Amino acid sequence: MRSVRLHDPLDIRFEHVDPAPAPGRGEVRIKVAFAGICGSDIHNYKTGQWISCRPSIAGHEFAGTVDAVGEGVTRVSVGDKVVADSRDYCTKCVNCLQGNNHLCSKLGFVGESIDGGFADFTTLPDRLVLACDPAMELDIATLSEPLAVALHALDRVRIENHDPLLVVGCGPIGALIAVVSDILCQRPLLLCDRDRLRVETVATACAGYPVDLAAFNQFESLPGKTVRHVIDTTGNVEVICNLAAKLSGSTLAMVGIGSGTFPFDPVGAVERELALVGCHAFKDQLPRAVELLERHPDRFRPLIEHRISPEDTPAEYDRICSGKATGIKTLIEFSNSGKPGAD
Ligand SMILES: [Zn+2]
Ligand SMILES: [Zn+2]
Repeated sequence: MRSVRLHDPLDIRFEHVDPAPAPGRGEVRIKVAFAGICGSDIHNYKTGQWISCRPSIAGHEFAGTVDAVGEGVTRVSVGDKVVADSRDYCTKCVNCLQGNNHLCSKLGFVGESIDGGFADFTTLPDRLVLACDPAMELDIATLSEPLAVALHALDRVRIENHDPLLVVGCGPIGALIAVVSDILCQRPLLLCDRDRLRVETVATACAGYPVDLAAFNQFESLPGKTVRHVIDTTGNVEVICNLAAKLSGSTLAMVGIGSGTFPFDPVGAVERELALVGCHAFKDQLPRAVELLERHPDRFRPLIEHRISPEDTPAEYDRICSGKATGIKTLIEFSNSGKPGAD
């Protein structure tokens, strides 16, 4: 079958590999229709930080149909449209037992610790497979996983209804936060990104206001309102430092994966009552994400930039790394694939 595998940092290849194995007990084989390229895929490609088995089929954002089920599987049936849960959790540690699977002490991710969805077929434990409505469009369904991340960030920032929100970074997660926030509650949304076209695309999709981060002032940027909730999706140390230094009586949620460290001013954080909140993956938001995509597909469609073939994926990684991606989300299309083992 066709696949895209990460071998090492900066070494991703389109390859024909053995078909995904027939599902064993409690497993499901999925015929992948579409898979999304995520910022964390690019981070892993650039740094190799999460390569735990090599080579591995990349990809943790994907949707498809159930192709075969193993013994004991009752959650889904052959032919069901499904999305994948990206979190490869152990089910046994204290965090897993308390429902915090995203904080599992042995947490890995599909596409890193186990083969992922950049392939014609993939086989997963059934607990990582979630059925969608038969009417769900599978390209839109591919946004389920990042939308769950966006919902988790909104849950973590604990914003009250109609309070304004500043979203820093208009990549896929920032865009999804903005659009879903607008669907759930029409609050004022301030948006910034160094790419003007991207921020304008997102502002149009969520009726938000582009702002220049350098000029941002939480008391003045939105006349008559104070911005006390900020979500950073860039992970950029300079951006986070800049925000942490100027916010007062505010929550700064961090979702972006960056690199490096920053000097932390504990006195400033005390005096200005700054709450720094880390947001990792998602907790229990995946079913909610699927439901929102089923109900509002047209709100999310503008975020899909274009579709590429599996063969073009390595070149697309390089395009994204060189900063030439101006759209929001790139999907890899696998849906023309045949039976397991076929090319
Ligand atoms: Zn992702
Ligand atoms: Zn665990």
